[in-house]
Amino acid sequence: MTDPDELLAGLDREQREVARALHGPVCVLAGAGTGKTRAITHRIAYGVAAGVYQPSQLLAVTFTARAAGEMRGRLRGLGAGAVQARTFHSAALRQLQYFWPQTVGGPPPRILESKIPLVAEAASACRVRTDRTALRDLASEIEWCKSTQTAPDDYPAAVAKAQRVPPREPAEVSRIYAAYEQHKRERGFIDFEDVLLLTIGVLESRPEIADRVRSQYRHFVVDEYQDVNPLQQRLLEQWLGTRESLCVVGDASQTIYSFTGASPDYLLGFPDRYADATVIRLVRDYRSTPQVVGVANALLGAIPQETAAGRRAARARLELVAQRPAGPAVRYTEYPDEAAEAEGVAESIRSLIDSGVRPAEIAVLFRINAQSEVYEQALADRHLPYVVRGIERFFDRPEVRQSVLLMRGAARGAEVPEQSAAGEPEEAGSGLAAAVRAVLSGNGWTPGAPAGSGRAREVWESLAALAALAEEYESAHPRAGLAEFVHELEERAALQHAPVVDGVTLASLHSAKGLEWDAVHLVGLTEGLLPITYAETDEAVEEERRLLYVGVTRAREQLALSWALARTPGGRASRRPSRFLDSLKEAQEARAESSAGGVLRRGSGRGLQEQGKSKRSGPVRCRVCGKALIEAVDRKLGRCADCPSDLDQALFQRLREWRSEQAKEQSLPAYCVFTDATLTAIAEGRPADRAALSRIPGVGSAKLERYADEVLAMLGGSGGAAAGDGAGEESQLALELDAPSDEGADEAETETETED
Ligand code: ATP
Ligand code: MG
Repeated sequence: MTDPDELLAGLDREQREVARALHGPVCVLAGAGTGKTRAITHRIAYGVAAGVYQPSQLLAVTFTARAAGEMRGRLRGLGAGAVQARTFHSAALRQLQYFWPQTVGGPPPRILESKIPLVAEAASACRVRTDRTALRDLASEIEWCKSTQTAPDDYPAAVAKAQRVPPREPAEVSRIYAAYEQHKRERGFIDFEDVLLLTIGVLESRPEIADRVRSQYRHFVVDEYQDVNPLQQRLLEQWLGTRESLCVVGDASQTIYSFTGASPDYLLGFPDRYADATVIRLVRDYRSTPQVVGVANALLGAIPQETAAGRRAARARLELVAQRPAGPAVRYTEYPDEAAEAEGVAESIRSLIDSGVRPAEIAVLFRINAQSEVYEQALADRHLPYVVRGIERFFDRPEVRQSVLLMRGAARGAEVPEQSAAGEPEEAGSGLAAAVRAVLSGNGWTPGAPAGSGRAREVWESLAALAALAEEYESAHPRAGLAEFVHELEERAALQHAPVVDGVTLASLHSAKGLEWDAVHLVGLTEGLLPITYAETDEAVEEERRLLYVGVTRAREQLALSWALARTPGGRASRRPSRFLDSLKEAQEARAESSAGGVLRRGSGRGLQEQGKSKRSGPVRCRVCGKALIEAVDRKLGRCADCPSDLDQALFQRLREWRSEQAKEQSLPAYCVFTDATLTAIAEGRPADRAALSRIPGVGSAKLERYADEVLAMLGGSGGAAAGDGAGEESQLALELDAPSDEGADEAETETETED
């Protein structure tokens, strides 16, 4: 038997207060990493050890199966393994199955694996034409309706009130929703939300059953209570009856599921609903270094107060106080394009692993699922193990699989069509990228993103990622056709499918809730991705800020924020850094001014600055004619494709042979060693030393490290010489905030101007 007091030893004063508050309503309002989950698991174990709770009479509820599993593990470790830790859904399902025979009778209900087939039937009964994507969006909307307890007839008014962007005409959604419910009933199925609705129905209408459930469970604990939806809240109230042994913990600043109907009002209103509640606030952040905590505080400190949404969000804000010793500076890095960003992040991950950090202690977090592909690839290229959480791996997604299949079919028909995609005049052009766009258009892709969020948007993003890959591949292999590209995609898919155990986590910000890693990379921080384009209302923008807050607060030690100005290499630098970064920068500047300890400095970005161009992504110029280079392939070559080449063919051939050997040795596609354009630039430029080699586009620090000696030996240069002018540094502009002030004050720079 565990000594109850021993269990309190690992807690601070307020956490101990939580653990000791074993009776009556308890509400813990606390920020990220302050030990909420730790405090409630200790509270449960303490209550059990002190004999106040019978383990079988306590129900701990969380929101994901993974979190429930983690909680069970922690409880076992604290000697309270007999306590039930479940999701709302699994707890309700168990009860429903148990009481079904005496309430409804007959065989237990059949649960719908997926709403899609019935939504399809309903849509067709309503004479509405849909595709698979539209069906997914309709299914999500029906889920929102049911979670918020909105009946079909009330949908148009409810959607307007909630300022939601409906997936289609509200009256139409309403009709399809009603037809879906009818078809479902007729077939004898129940869906995910029905499990909760029916359990609530039984508990509300059958007092004797409610009594039995209530005599089984007498104490309740809810983690992440800020994300409870009205349906779950109603079930919780039924479980409780008139009793008050309920402990809820949450952080309103981490509400990130409003779009599914969740609301932090239940958490924030708890002290009003229970006048005698014990309310405890935790502010000490045990998870993250002061550097990370500083960013988290600055992010919430910058919530605009002019809007009602901002004022509401600001009221819920809790200032965190860092407990851990100082760690490394938070890194802010701007890249010219997404591919460069993924390469940079993967290199940084490689250095972390080389320095002894376990891959499982590293994460890359992004806003939308489609962003994972470039990171999957960049990590796979380097043979770094990774796991994708909460989403399907890129090449497993149905829309991607189907597109690759269509491309394979098209490749059999014709290599590279001369004409552009029919019906897409703005996409005109010949070559591989145009051919791929044509195939994708046939699969429902449009050059512009669809309005709104949801599945339609996700599909579009995946297809857009394929289109971008094609452009990139074409730049590197100007003469390649569809068949080569499909082969390339298949190789990538194979590389990405290797199963791993201890891998770097790639996850969406939504699925990262409650988790923590030593090193976190938050990527793609541009307007349009964070906040996401369809976050049109003030409320929606504040939810995006909270998502970033959740991301930032996942990091224990190392935090790296990055963004890319263009989607594809050589593409127009039309993206702008996220507005949330401005607020961080301003806060850091203010801190830098008031303390000598931190300065904002521009990192020693090599490439772009050394070419004497604008501070950021100024044009790369042709070394023959001096013209600004626009095309990616020209930029890599360092000259216009039609300017005279001084290529030494024999040398180029030797380099190619060397590349093939390297690729074979490492089981990599050849372009992963160096692309053709980079190889050509090396053969033409004949860099004499590492520094010069590092200036060639496509030769990043990792490649330099790995290949410089051999390449320079082939060129007859000084392979081993250490570079004096920045070789080995990242080829992008790096801004380090809060870095130790070891540079002269006049090196401090505080601007990040954007270029359109
Ligand atoms: P989130 O809001 O992200 O869910 P949380 O408030 O639930 O965070 P926990 O996950 O419980 O925070 O704790 C964050 C980290 O801090 C964990 O690694 C935990 O073990 C550690 N921690 C919490 N309290 C203490 C403490 N008193 N002493 C030492 N470590 C602690
Ligand atoms: Mg937690």
